[in-house]
Order: sequence, then C-alpha cells, then structure tokens
Amino acid sequence: MQGNQSHSRTEVLAIGLGPREEEEMQGILGPEFSLERFVFPCSGNGRPEMDNKLMALVSWRGVNGQIARLTRYSFSDENFPPRVLVLDAPVAQCDLERVVDAGFSSVLRYPFEPEKVKALVDQLMESQGLYKDLYHMAREICLEREILSRQADLLQFFNKILTNASFSLDTIEILHQAHEDLRILLPVKSVDAIFWQSNQNQELESEIFIHEHSGKQIQDRMIQFLLEHAEKHADQKIIGYHVNFMSKVESMEVIEDVREDDVLVLPLRFGGKSYGCISIASEKISRLGRDRLQTILAAVNHLALALRNALLFQQMRTRADRDALTRLPNRHYFDERMIQEVKRHQRYRIPLSLMMMDLDFFKSINDNYGHQAGDMVLQDIGRLLRDILRSSDIPARFGGEEFVVLLPHTTQEQAGILAGRILESIAKRRFHFKGKFFKVTASIGVASMETGFFAKNEDLLGEADAALYRAKASGRNMVCLAGEEDAEESRRQYA
Ligand code: GH3
Ligand code: MG
Ligand code: MG
Repeated sequence: MQGNQSHSRTEVLAIGLGPREEEEMQGILGPEFSLERFVFPCSGNGRPEMDNKLMALVSWRGVNGQIARLTRYSFSDENFPPRVLVLDAPVAQCDLERVVDAGFSSVLRYPFEPEKVKALVDQLMESQGLYKDLYHMAREICLEREILSRQADLLQFFNKILTNASFSLDTIEILHQAHEDLRILLPVKSVDAIFWQSNQNQELESEIFIHEHSGKQIQDRMIQFLLEHAEKHADQKIIGYHVNFMSKVESMEVIEDVREDDVLVLPLRFGGKSYGCISIASEKISRLGRDRLQTILAAVNHLALALRNALLFQQMRTRADRDALTRLPNRHYFDERMIQEVKRHQRYRIPLSLMMMDLDFFKSINDNYGHQAGDMVLQDIGRLLRDILRSSDIPARFGGEEFVVLLPHTTQEQAGILAGRILESIAKRRFHFKGKFFKVTASIGVASMETGFFAKNEDLLGEADAALYRAKASGRNMVCLAGEEDAEESRRQYA
C-alpha cells in the first residue's frame, strides 16, 4: 500500500458495516484511506459522487435481505466501485447465489485479516490504475478521431474547390462557387475580389467584383477597402476601376458592416506576381486555426490560377468582339446583339432604331493624304461615337468606312436628332495628319421598329441602308429617315 498524506485520500465506501467493523477497517487501511459511510437507500440528491472510489465494502449482516434492492438501485450505477462482500454473519447456500448474482468481486471475512485486506487493496489499486490508463487512451482515441474528422473536412473542401474552380471560365461563377465551397470550413458571409492590370500608359486600372450588399454606403466601403488592399499589393496607385455587381447567393447573409477584423484579404498570384486580391468575410476569420488557414491559402493559390484563366478568356473574347482599329464592337458582335435587341423589342414593345453611317468620299482621303491618314480618321470617328453615345447604345464598325449604331428605347425621331448631332460634330472637326489639315463628312440613314411593329432584322438593316443611299444621292453630309422620302427638313446639310 502506497500513499501520501499530501495527496487526497483514497475513498472506500462502507455499506451496512457496524461501528466496530468500520473502526477496525480504518485501522487496517491506514490514514491514506478514508472510510465513507454509504446510507442505503439514499435519496437522488444526496447520492455521493461514485467516481474515484476504490471499493464498496458491503456488510452481509447490515444489508441482509436487501441485496436485491441494492442491486436494482445503487449497483445499477455503472460508476459504482467494485463491491466487496464482508461476511460478518453465516450465509446460507441459496443466499450465496443471490450474492454472486449481485456481482461482488471479492469476499472478506470478519474478523478482518489485515494481510488479506491489504492484498485486496493492492490488487484493486492496480486495476484502478489500469482502468485510468485505459480511460486516458480512450480519450486520446476520441481526440484523434476529432482531428481526423476535421482533416476529412479540410480534404473535402480542398477536393471541392479544386474540382469546381476549373469547371467554369466565368469569373462571377468561380467566385460564387468558391463562396459555397468555403462554407464547408467556416460561415462565410461574402467573397469579393479585385483584379488590376496596366493600361497602355503603364497606369493601373482595376476590375472589382462585389456582392450586391445592402445599401450603397456599405458597397462604397467595400470598394474602398478592396482598392486600398490592391494598392498595397500592387505597390502602385490605381487610377480607375470598374465595378461588377454579383447577384446575391440565395443562402447569403446580409452584411451590415465591413469590419477589417472580419475580412481576410489574400493576394492572387500568377507567375510570381500579384494580379488581384480576394476577400473572404466571416465573423470567424480571427479565430481560424492554423490548419484551416493553411488549407484556405492553398485553395486560394489554386483559385488564383482558375480566376486568371477566366480573366484571360474574357479578355480574348472582348478582343474577338472588337475591331482592332477603332476599338468599337465588330460586325460579328453587332449581328448577335441585333438579334437579341429585336427579340427584346418584340417581347417588351420598346422602340428600337438603327443608324447606318458611311463616310463621304473617303476614297479621296486615302488618295490625297494616304491610307494612314484614312486609318487615323476611322479611329477618330470611333472615339467620337463613343463620346457622343450613351452606354446603352450599341455602336459597331460595320465594315470599311461604314458604321452602325443600334439604339434601344429610341424612336425614329429621337434617332434622327442624334444622327444630326453626330454629323454636326464630324463636320466641325478639323483632322490633322502630317502637317496637313482636312475635313470629313458622313451620311446617315435611320430606320426604326416602332412598338407593335413586327419585322425581321434584315428589314431594319435594309431600310436604314436605303435611307443612307438616299442621303448619298441627295448630296451627302445629311440624315435621311426611312419612310420619309419627301420630308425636306430631313435633308439638312451640316457645316
Ligand atoms: P461615298 O461618299 O460614296 O461613300 O464615297 P467613298 O469614297 O467613301 O466610297 P467608296 O465605297 O468608293 O470608298 C470607300 C473607301 O474606304 C475605299 C477604301 O479604300 C476605304 N477604306 C475602307 N476601309 C478602310 C480602312 O480600314 N482604312 C482606310 N484607310 N481606308 C479604308
Ligand atoms: Mg462605303
Ligand atoms: Mg463612303
């Protein structure tokens, strides 16, 4: 028997033992043990804590006849310590069977034999130690299992983000998907991003993708926040930005405020250089463990590649849709938009007009000043159209020195006025090439689909072309409206 006074004393329960028996037992056990009287039956509240008791000494004489009740109530507690029967009265054979049924692990005879008591205590102490080791091992196994299940979550997240990000070439779709996937790891409120790129003058311009947060104020704060981080990572000022709003994800929470502590901003790198930042907003960000943070970093590295591909793809598509010289949309793009806009016109009954413009005597510009001068004029006309038109108008280079402008929500009369303004500004302009000054004029034909008027798009083009032909035939530098062959006022020339 080992023990130390400074340690808490090992407890032994005494059930039904007489005072003499108790005293003798305490004497044998010594001061490291404390004998606690367990009164049976005990009330629910007064029930002693059963953990850490070495044994329960049950006097046969004291509980004789109550073994069955004791078995039903106290002994059914799984924490009840090993029970030792104290044979302090004669036991009949049939009673002994009941005692064995009650699950006694040992028997001590009274009067106690100190050697036997000490041997029993040593044996129980040893098995209790073993039990404690087993308990610790079981706890460790539970912890390991928890860690494994966390790692399984990380793997699942990683697997998802790797698979999903490469599935799309659409920036918004990739960001939405990343948002969904990140939710496996933490309650993410929003995933926003900023990308930057140098323009021809080596200045940085950026493209921002943010959610439709509640209210303009919070949106502005988010934009400002992203711009600040972008400038930090790019190490250069960003001179302009364009915002793309991503529609809300269904499960998305409303963000009331952008708190720096709740947002994790990570750079997106490609070829060793940052080209953007992604921001992950979650109230749990500051409490992110190292394992999860590292997983997110690895995932963002992969996202960076997927997003880079998407951005390049979009750039290429934009290039394919634009005319290289004037940077206006090309014929191919225009044809597609024309089909869409005619459909919209028919479905929603909104007016739609078309302008067809051809530069006058352009061949002679080339002949007199050279092809390069002609190119410069075409570039200039492209710029002029972009300046004059609204963002909802759709201009395009139709071919050679011919331009078209599709005008949704515009009646023929309004389109005629706009065409006049365009001709006026062209006519006013003094072109300058290699020391020579010259002027250019153009002619425009306008046609429209009024509400309720159903027609094929070729008709609209054909009518505009016919009106243009009349403008040319009537002296050039003028606007002609389809269906108004005789209207004198439509033949005004511009100076
Ligand atoms: P009109 O008033 O009847 O339209 O006379 P025009 O000389 O403009 O008509 P025409 O169709 O005979 O000539 C168009 C000219 O536009 C011919 C072509 O050399 C020139 N052109 C077409 N595309 C380009 C281009 O990309 N660059 C340059 N510099 N010239 C072009
Ligand atoms: Mg022409
Ligand atoms: Mg021409």
